[in-house]
Amino acid sequence: MAERAQNIALRSDFQLLVDGALTGGEGWLEVINPATEQAFARCPAAGREHLDAAVAAARRAFAPWRQTSYARRAELIKRYTAALREAQDWLTVLLTEEQGKPIAQSEAEVDRGAAQADEMAGIEIPVELLLEDDRRRIELHYRPLGVVGIITPWNAPIALALGSMTSALYTGNTVIIKPSPYTPLSTLKMGELAQAIFPPGVVNVLAGGDDLGRWMSEHEDIDKISFTGSVATGKKVLASAAQTLKRVTLELGGNDPAIVLPDADPKAIAKQMFFACFVNTGQVCMAIKRIYVHEDVYDELCEVLVEEARNAKYGSGLDRENQLGPLQNKMQFDKVSEIFEDTRRSGATFLIGGEIPDRAGYFIPPTLVTDVDEHSRLVREEQFGPIVPILKYSDIQDAVRRANDTRFGLSGSVWTSDPIRGKAIAQRLEVGTAWVNQHRATSAYVPFGGAKESGLGRQSSVLGLKGYMEPQVVSVSKLAP
Ligand code: NAD
Repeated sequence: MAERAQNIALRSDFQLLVDGALTGGEGWLEVINPATEQAFARCPAAGREHLDAAVAAARRAFAPWRQTSYARRAELIKRYTAALREAQDWLTVLLTEEQGKPIAQSEAEVDRGAAQADEMAGIEIPVELLLEDDRRRIELHYRPLGVVGIITPWNAPIALALGSMTSALYTGNTVIIKPSPYTPLSTLKMGELAQAIFPPGVVNVLAGGDDLGRWMSEHEDIDKISFTGSVATGKKVLASAAQTLKRVTLELGGNDPAIVLPDADPKAIAKQMFFACFVNTGQVCMAIKRIYVHEDVYDELCEVLVEEARNAKYGSGLDRENQLGPLQNKMQFDKVSEIFEDTRRSGATFLIGGEIPDRAGYFIPPTLVTDVDEHSRLVREEQFGPIVPILKYSDIQDAVRRANDTRFGLSGSVWTSDPIRGKAIAQRLEVGTAWVNQHRATSAYVPFGGAKESGLGRQSSVLGLKGYMEPQVVSVSKLAP
């Protein structure tokens, strides 16, 4: 991924996992620490033959794995999450080194990911009785699909791989996991931990570039792709998957609005709202990306959010003092920098932030802006970075219309001291998840996914798990033949 840094020995204890064996690749990926802009590690990159070998192994492993009981599969998943927790100290340092996020957020990623995986592996998927009368009994069964390809982005590599992996394995599928080329290392270590627990071929992990993702989406012997990433790539995955009518779950980007009603207490909501915008330096699919505030509380909310931004320290994620790390990669840093310039040109007012420091690392301070042109890139696009517009409204109908005026539809929230009114407004948001007085609250028992162009299908819960299965009607006549 980068020019080799001069005089720095690259860490290279990483391998692919194919058919239960750790193996090299056909080339290398160099991985940059975004806090220093230096390459610090390299890992093998898989070629087509590695993919074919992994798919063949996953296919072989599928027959016995699908016959394994839910209880046994859950037991192995729980052994695996225990291994992740045991590895947490070194795994979270590695995650912060490659991804940039503060170490406490890396710890939370492993903790929450493991807890949700444990919960998911306890969800029952019963046979459903559709109809029974004197003549027939009709049941709906759910069968595993087969080999599932899991493609993940760079913002939460462990949690996102683990969520899809758990869903697929628990429901009886085998998997091939491909992390982003920007953050392959922690996922490869997840593969090493999986090697000791799951039968050969059940879990395969391949690092590689975008081509590897495309090969997976096109592969004739992969039955489903579980993709998390951008809308643009999600559309390519869907087009590739169409050739073989693969099943897909697409978890894509968002431009998530928060609406603050006139009865909200700005001081009470400031901290929660600030971190819902800026956690992981804004690189979260469901982060608040636009804030619509009623004119009665507008000035006060701006003030308290600015105060939060002033108090938030940013810098290397390895330093526990810092609440915000760098942007994850140069491409994202450049994109957010362009959005800064576009916002400035459009005449917006920068309440805080706005200066991109001249220092090593992809750092941008938390930035809040007002007087923003509603047609600017900052409002229209998914900024995926630490710059958030605060937009004024006087009429709630107008606020809801503006919040919904987007092709995205991942999540949104309403903030108020009247939860009943909040709920009525939340229901009008065209999103997969609408929260009231909270944002980013997810659970293994609750489906998560996007409306509109933010995705297809859901993750988590019975609904999400069924996305990894094929419904099968079994209809038995009671009449003697
Ligand atoms: P991306 O779409 O650029 O890449 C995601 C993955 O797709 C990477 O592994 C990449 O190598 C692979 N890929 C690239 N081209 C491909 C192709 N043609 N076929 C198959 N795979 C291909 O996304 P990113 O920049 O890594 O991640 C950021 C995006 O992810 C943001 O839009 C964010 O909102 C989204 N995201 C969504 C969720 C969610 O749950 N909805 C969660 C996290 C991130």
